Amino acid sequence: MEIQLQAFENGGVHPDYATVFRMILLLERLQIVHKVNLKRSCSYYELSYPGKDYDHVVCVDCGKVQFLNWPSPVAETERRLAEELGFTEVQHSLEFFGRCPECSEAFNSGVSVPGPAEPQVQL
Ligand SMILES: [Zn+2]
Repeated sequence: MEIQLQAFENGGVHPDYATVFRMILLLERLQIVHKVNLKRSCSYYELSYPGKDYDHVVCVDCGKVQFLNWPSPVAETERRLAEELGFTEVQHSLEFFGRCPECSEAFNSGVSVPGPAEPQVQL
């Protein structure tokens, strides 16, 4: 849905859902994008960068997703998967859940946050 909207706003075109879906599958097969598992009703994709990790934290209240640019805490595990178990091309997707600062503030002040809206992705 968001891709269709962006295509219209930036390119003035209206790709139908099937077109977008076919394109995403193609990009995924070419390993240009990969799916991010966010336990959500819709699928999110992001660009693949070789050697980059995709750890992220999801706010359980508003659904905001923030990607972590820190060194991955599982780098040691990946190294052992390769050295001790012989795996190659090891990748991982690490997902943390918590309450973002804005939602924590709202929660602590007793303001109810309207359930998960459309998730915002911050890169
Ligand atoms: Zn939040």
